[in-house]
Amino acid sequence: MSETDIASLCHALSIGEKESPAKILDGNLKNRGEQRLALSLVGKVLGSKVVNREAFRDVMQRVWRVSGGVEIEAIEDNVFEFQFKNLEARQRVLSGGPWRFDKALLVLEEPSGTSEIANMEFNRTEFWVQIHNLPILCMSEEIGLFLGNMIGEVRNVDLEAGKNGSSRFIRVRVGIKVDEPLKRSLRVDLLGDGKITTMLLRYERVPDFCYKCNRLGHNIGECSNTGDNRKATTEANIRLCTWMRTVSPPKKYLYGSGKGRKEQGMRDWNEDRYGFSGTREASRSQGNWRSKQHDSDKDGGRKGIIRVVGGKEHLETSDPKIACAVKKWRHLWFCRS
Ligand SMILES: [Zn+2]
Repeated sequence: MSETDIASLCHALSIGEKESPAKILDGNLKNRGEQRLALSLVGKVLGSKVVNREAFRDVMQRVWRVSGGVEIEAIEDNVFEFQFKNLEARQRVLSGGPWRFDKALLVLEEPSGTSEIANMEFNRTEFWVQIHNLPILCMSEEIGLFLGNMIGEVRNVDLEAGKNGSSRFIRVRVGIKVDEPLKRSLRVDLLGDGKITTMLLRYERVPDFCYKCNRLGHNIGECSNTGDNRKATTEANIRLCTWMRTVSPPKKYLYGSGKGRKEQGMRDWNEDRYGFSGTREASRSQGNWRSKQHDSDKDGGRKGIIRVVGGKEHLETSDPKIACAVKKWRHLWFCRS
């Protein structure tokens, strides 16, 4: 029920009811309520599809595997309350995101004081964002912080993971408004001489997003932006959008050693393989999410050049992800060369 609905129902109370004496909550009850609140999170699965509550409960409990377990209670469509047994488990989930269920983003909020679930906006989440095409001049924590602030609220800067490999980058963990378009680049005048450097952004473990308006929670077919889809479905745009989605860097640069490293490695492996943050067993309870992914694996899994054809259009690419995306949005089909 929305805030407006509640206000309108309260408005119907008589003056006698509105002015009747209020009781002060007993101190012990208040303390117990606050303790409970400190161990809870509220989350919403974005997207137009109503999730299967039982599958969601089962999958998230298996994915998180937190000490003492977590109780998950459905509040309303796609909104859930999570009750943890200890603060460490709650913090691990909060800082370990983004989390996804059935390819949709789960946005978590920390309830506080007398805040009502109806008033929660579920419009902000944290991502690790990689900033690429960086001059050597920019490989410092201070500049990472400056650049991260151009993307969102900076929580962390990581210079280490991007030092290894063919392309250097800085990782910043930033809080982003999920209802705004994902930024794709940063333009910076580094030396104040009018020469602009364009840096490109990659989002780790981000769910698929709309290639037309660059917002999360829907795809081109569901986009409310009017206008021609052709610009969004050009090979160049699809190449950029698919490149923007990436996994976390190799775990040897991130997770240290031990059980935690193995679990994170397994999550990343599943992200890579299935586009889903869960174990293989957990994912089986989710119904049909897997068959769709397998279709695209089958279509795009061939080695070498892939031809996508239809009418007067055709595209040749060696990248299966681009071939699949072009096929999907232009309603074309694959042709074996
Ligand atoms: Zn859109």
